[in-house]
Amino acid sequence: MTATLKNDDFGFFGEYGGTYSPEALMPILDELLAAFRAAEADPDFMQEYLSILANWGGRPTPLYYAGNLSRAYGADLYFKREDLMHGGAHKTNNAIGQVLLAKRMGKTRVIAETGAGQHGVATAMACAKLSMECVIYMGAVDVARQAPNVERMKLLGAEVIAVQSGGKTLKDAINDALRDWIATCETTSYVMGTVAGPHPFPTMVRKFQEVIGREARAQCLAQIGRLPDYALACVGGGSNAMGLFSGFMDDKDVQLIGVEPGGHGLDTDKHGAVLCKGVTAVLHGMKTLGLQDKDGQIFETHSISAGLDYPLIGPEHAYLRDTGRASYVAATDDEAVEALQIFTRAEGIIPALESSHAISYALKLAREQQGKIILVNLSGRGDKDLAHIQAYLAEKA
Ligand SMILES: *Cc1c(COP(=O)(O)O)cnc(C)c1O
Repeated sequence: MTATLKNDDFGFFGEYGGTYSPEALMPILDELLAAFRAAEADPDFMQEYLSILANWGGRPTPLYYAGNLSRAYGADLYFKREDLMHGGAHKTNNAIGQVLLAKRMGKTRVIAETGAGQHGVATAMACAKLSMECVIYMGAVDVARQAPNVERMKLLGAEVIAVQSGGKTLKDAINDALRDWIATCETTSYVMGTVAGPHPFPTMVRKFQEVIGREARAQCLAQIGRLPDYALACVGGGSNAMGLFSGFMDDKDVQLIGVEPGGHGLDTDKHGAVLCKGVTAVLHGMKTLGLQDKDGQIFETHSISAGLDYPLIGPEHAYLRDTGRASYVAATDDEAVEALQIFTRAEGIIPALESSHAISYALKLAREQQGKIILVNLSGRGDKDLAHIQAYLAEKA
C-alpha cells in the first residue's frame, strides 16, 4: 500500500492513517467501509441522519457573536455553539451517525469504549433513540472517577463493563472492546469516538462531524457577510476540529488552528501536545503521531480536561500539519481555566474545559490581530467540569 492520495480508500492522509490492525479485524473493517461508502452516497440515509440531528439533536446550532469579549479584546470573536447540541457537546453528531449506520447494516448491538464517559453517554443516547443494544467498555479506574456518566449510561439502558486489565483506563477499554467486536461482529458494530483508529474510522467520524463546518461557513456568510480570518478548535483526538476545519478547507485565506492540551507546559512531562511535539508512531490501528518518553515508549497524557487526554492524534491532523494547511499550538491547564473564567463572566456561558483551550488561544490571537474575525468552535458546555474546576482552583489558592 503506497497510496498517497488524501481520502483514497486505503484511508491514507499523506503517510498517515491506513489500516494497521490484527488480521482478524480486516474483514470486519472492510464490511464497515463498504457499508459506510454506500450509506454516505445514499441521500435517504444522509437525510435521516440530518433529520434526527435537527429534531432530536437541536441542529443547527447558532453562530454566536461574543460582543462583550470582542469589545474588550479588539477582534471580532464568533463561537459555534456545539455546547447547545443535545448531550452538551459535538459528540452526539458522530454517535447518531455511526449507530444509524450500524442499524442500516442489520446489526442489533453496539459497543464503544469511553474514557471520561462523554463518548459512552453520547453512544448510549443514540442507541436508546435508535433502539439498539448498547455495551460500553470503560476502565475500572475511570468508572470510579466518572460516576455521574456511568449513572447516565445505565439510565439510558446501556451496560457498562468495568475493565480490570492493565492500567484499567482508556487504552485497556479499547483492547477489550476490540476483542468483543472480533467475537461478535455478526451482530455488533463498534462506534469510535474520534477521528482516530484504523480506516474507515477517521474518515467516517469526520464525515459525521462535517455538519459543524458546513453550518458555520454558511452562518458566517449570512451573519457577517464574509468568512473568518481564523477558525480555531481544541484538539483531543481531533473530531470537533476536523468537523469545523472541513467547512473551510478550500478557503485558503481562512487560517485553521488546532489547540492542544499543554498540561503543565510543553517543557514538562506528559503534556498532550501531540502535534506540537509528537513523533511518528503506529498504534491503535493507524500510523499517526504520538508522544514518546525518553525510552521511546508512547505514553499516556495528563490534561486537566479528560476529553483531551489522548496520547495520539487523528491522522488527518498530522497530514494538515505537515502540509501547512493547519497549524497547531498548545494551551496549558492554567491558561484553559483562566479562559473559562473570563469567558463565563463576559458572555454568561460556561464552556467545557476542552473548549476553553481554544478560547484561551483565541483571546491571545485577538490581542495580536486587532480587527480580525476569529471563529472558535465551542465544542461543549462546562457543567460537567464544575467539581473539577473547583478542586483545581482550591489547590492553586
Ligand atoms: C471529547 C471532547 C473533545 C475532544 O474530542 P475531539 O475528538 O478532539 O473533538 C473536545 N471538547 C469536548 C466538549 C469533548 O467532549
